[in-house]
Amino acid sequence: MKNISAEIVAVGTELLLGQIANTNAQWISEKLASIGINVHHHSVVGDNLKRVENQFRVSGDRSDVLIITGGLGPTEDDLTREAFQQITGMGIVEHEPSMRKIEAYFQNQIADMTPNNRKQARVFTGADVIENQTGMAPGMIVSFERKTWIFLPGVPREMKRMMTDNVLPHLQYLSGADTVIKSSMLRFIGIGESSLEHELSDLIQCQTNPTIAPLAQNEGVAIRLTAKADNDEEATAVIDRTKQEILDRVGGYYYGDDDQTLAEKVLELLQQTNKSVGAAESLTGGQFTDKLISVPGASNVCRGGIVCYDTKVKERVLHVKPELIQQYGTVSKECALSMAENVCSLLDADIGISFTGVAGPDYSEGHPPGTVFIAVYTTSGKQQAEKYTFQGDRQTIRKRTVLKGYELLYNLLK
Ligand code: ATP
Repeated sequence: MKNISAEIVAVGTELLLGQIANTNAQWISEKLASIGINVHHHSVVGDNLKRVENQFRVSGDRSDVLIITGGLGPTEDDLTREAFQQITGMGIVEHEPSMRKIEAYFQNQIADMTPNNRKQARVFTGADVIENQTGMAPGMIVSFERKTWIFLPGVPREMKRMMTDNVLPHLQYLSGADTVIKSSMLRFIGIGESSLEHELSDLIQCQTNPTIAPLAQNEGVAIRLTAKADNDEEATAVIDRTKQEILDRVGGYYYGDDDQTLAEKVLELLQQTNKSVGAAESLTGGQFTDKLISVPGASNVCRGGIVCYDTKVKERVLHVKPELIQQYGTVSKECALSMAENVCSLLDADIGISFTGVAGPDYSEGHPPGTVFIAVYTTSGKQQAEKYTFQGDRQTIRKRTVLKGYELLYNLLK
């Protein structure tokens, strides 16, 4: 396999202003690593012709493969093509199939096509054109002075499709890879990164194929297994063997693979057990329900949620008894349980879950920020209320609360 050094150049002033994050570079890097190509530089340059030219010169001097994202659109500040033309003298022509697609789009929209829309269909003479399946501007693969330049749209959805369908197979061919590199993520909840690492320390230290890398994630922790093998089946077998060894030790915390989220897993379990859920949300403000409804298929199992932030709403809408609130306060096990039980019957669900607590930054009812109660109530007679103390700012506390709610439900259902 050839040692190729790749660089990702993102073009766009929005990135420099901090208005958007360079998620394209992160995603592309991950994909290149998975096929064994080294990424040595990430660069970001604004929509300025001279600066883009300079960036292309610097990047072209030091890297073998250059992946450029952004600046292929119709507007004045989309000048990736112009900059590359300036430094290479390459011709630019209109790409017929892309032009027809743009014209058809405007006909269907009954919208006026302006001259600058034609801009998007222009490609370098002799470029290997990548059709845009999900948008307008085509991508391009261009060879120039023994370097490979790959131009992709900035829109993540369009870029990803072109990378997966065209660019990665092309780069795999270029690198002469005779091995397959395959990665798989195992996802865990309810165990910290250091405990997980501790449980697996001997495996982590002695394994080289697959490599085992624990990662802290937004949702719990994950382990990335990366295997090298002669073919796909062998790589899968290598990963499966080690996955089993890992699950033999910490399988109790495992909930899914790869891109699976905890909300998806919970939804799957609700579907399998034919159970529905309703939520009473105080400090989480609907985030728990929102996460569940974001997963396709939620309508079968999610009854809905009541955002009961104010005490009066807890009393009037959710029918929590005023005497109970007077005696224990809203930040209490008793209130959480009553909320879970009442939302369960009000929304005609099999499971009620509730969230009440202090998101901060101030104390409430004498409790410090991060004091949270979560309760679960089921029509089959189970009830559980837990107190937690979360660290962090207001948003972090709210996010952790939602995640903990999913963890409780997952453990109840699995
Ligand atoms: P198109 O021709 O398909 O419109 P483009 O090549 O002109 O795309 P840009 O105009 O640079 O792309 O970006 C389009 C949008 O894509 C941006 O507004 C932004 O939302 C997103 N985007 C651009 N670059 C990146 C990046 N590096 N990471 C994540 N998102 C990006």
